[in-house]
Amino acid sequence: MSTRRHFLQKASLTTLALSLPFSDSIAKALGQQEPKVLRVALMGLGSYASRVAEAMKDCSRAKLVGVISGTPSKIEQWKQKHGLSAQNCYSYENVDQIKSNKDIDAVYVITPNGLHKEHTLTLAKAGKHVICEKPMATTAQEGQEMIAACKAAGVQLLIGYRMHFEANTLDIVKKQRAGEFGKTLFFQGLSGFVIGNPSQWRLNKLLSGGGAMMDIGIYSINGARYLLGEEPIWVTAQETKTDPVKFGEGIDETITFQMGFPSGATASCLSTYSLNYLDKFFLSGTKGFAEMQPSTGYGPIKAWTHVGPLQHSHVTHQTTQMDKMAALILDGKLPLIPVDGEEGLKDMRIVDAIYQAVKTGEKVII
Ligand code: NDP
Repeated sequence: MSTRRHFLQKASLTTLALSLPFSDSIAKALGQQEPKVLRVALMGLGSYASRVAEAMKDCSRAKLVGVISGTPSKIEQWKQKHGLSAQNCYSYENVDQIKSNKDIDAVYVITPNGLHKEHTLTLAKAGKHVICEKPMATTAQEGQEMIAACKAAGVQLLIGYRMHFEANTLDIVKKQRAGEFGKTLFFQGLSGFVIGNPSQWRLNKLLSGGGAMMDIGIYSINGARYLLGEEPIWVTAQETKTDPVKFGEGIDETITFQMGFPSGATASCLSTYSLNYLDKFFLSGTKGFAEMQPSTGYGPIKAWTHVGPLQHSHVTHQTTQMDKMAALILDGKLPLIPVDGEEGLKDMRIVDAIYQAVKTGEKVII
């Protein structure tokens, strides 16, 4: 009898589940609560923040609820466009008041690189989880301070590595880890674009921390690490500059660099602000290869291996990223390729080493 009642109960739950909208049905029918949503404020309303905000409209686990900006007119526009409440909007001067705001869980720092540390420290102190854009800082020392501050405040620090959630990238990483390419002994990363406006912050050392390496070359560093599945132990690097006026002191225009890994694998990479159509990864192993082009742009990412093309459909990177980051912060669900502060720090240590190698002309041991 009890088995029969159990069956009937289950059957009626199933009927109920089928009659509700799909996203709610299972959880509601089983009496579970709907998954929590991460309430996010964006800091720095520039071009990338606009892209993130658009992408977040399709998120199921993350919601844009506030902004922090130095430009009052932008706050007004964003309030209208995204239906934000005035209490969730701040300037850089009063952002410490966010501490008492119970409607914001996390802040996504999308300001110039040279401000990431200061902004992260302020937000950690205010008790908010921080998602910080790449590069996490301008030096490894700054990155360490950011990690320590977030740890001390008991908040999470994530770095905006959107490629760590991209389907083709993840597929190749899984294939590499499963040995499908054999022993992977060579990576090539080409990262670059022609930078425009010479007066932008990206060409101002104080705000950028460096040139193309900080901005775009870091994708090749990061890609080498996740596709080879190892951490480099040395780097060598060479810089060339064709326009010393546009690319002043401390702003690298083009750097070629090499990295060596414990297995004996090597990486050969190019970072530049002076060439377009440079967005390519190549991974070579004893049994096969993987190639991606474009490899880190906004997509669709195109990838193929010795077996043939990968067929994963394109999803806006920042939509997946924000949903997965919400799952990480709210549920502790770890991604295959980490996106925490330590992951950002690993890249910063390599950036530091590359700049040192350029300066000294020597092989730098990491
Ligand atoms: P933008 O110049 O378009 O926007 C930066 C914004 O930061 C400004 O609009 C401004 O917003 C705010 N800001 C605060 N202080 C300053 C200052 N002193 N000078 C200039 N801006 C200031 O840059 P992006 O959006 O392209 O880049 C921002 C960050 O995002 C960088 O770290 C970059 O590396 C990263 N990024 C990451 C990408 C990715 O794919 N993951 C892609 C593009 C960028 P406000 O007026 O609201 O204060």
